Amino acid sequence: MTDPTIFGKIIRREIPADIVYEDEHLIAFRDIAPQAPVHVLFVPKLHVATLNDLQADRAEVVGRLAHAAAAYAKREGFAENGYRIVMNCNGDGGQTVFQIHLHLLAGAQLGRFGTPR
Ligand code: 5GP
Repeated sequence: MTDPTIFGKIIRREIPADIVYEDEHLIAFRDIAPQAPVHVLFVPKLHVATLNDLQADRAEVVGRLAHAAAAYAKREGFAENGYRIVMNCNGDGGQTVFQIHLHLLAGAQLGRFGTPR
């Protein structure tokens, strides 16, 4: 299925984004509203709306996102200092774009997370 979300539009170059990495499986671009000095989104080209929709035989989709994020951190030189990867799912998780994506946050000591609003 074609990705109907804003991220699908970025993948298809229908809207611009600051793309930092792309391969046949995924794309990575800077978040439009960064929550840390480094905030990059890793998005698969296969459309999967939420983590709940990920089939077991497609689990490598998420592995590729994590591997690409770690590779980016190493290339950019902050892997040793550290970083955080986050995937939000549905309302309580704070998901707003319904195409799975991994947030890579880095560039500062990050605060704790997971507290209710
Ligand atoms: P979620 O809340 O679904 O986990 O994360 C969606 C993220 O996408 C948010 O951090 C939001 O700032 C980002 N975002 C939403 N629309 C756009 C856009 O048009 N371009 C970019 N680069 N990021 C976006």
